[in-house]
Amino acid sequence: MTKLLEKHSPESLNVEGKTIYVCGCCGFEYIGDLDSEPDDYVCPICGQPKKVFKRKAM
Ligand SMILES: [Zn+2]
Repeated sequence: MTKLLEKHSPESLNVEGKTIYVCGCCGFEYIGDLDSEPDDYVCPICGQPKKVFKRKAM
């Protein structure tokens, strides 16, 4: 039998050791270092600026 490709749900993505920022407007989750983004970075979903993102506790 050929093993089917395993599917990973979003919840099972390995984000350990990474920082998650959540958009305070639409809930979009940015995974990584938001500080490394330019100051004019905006949320890809709702277009709000970086300052609306809140760091999510792991
Ligand atoms: Zn947003």
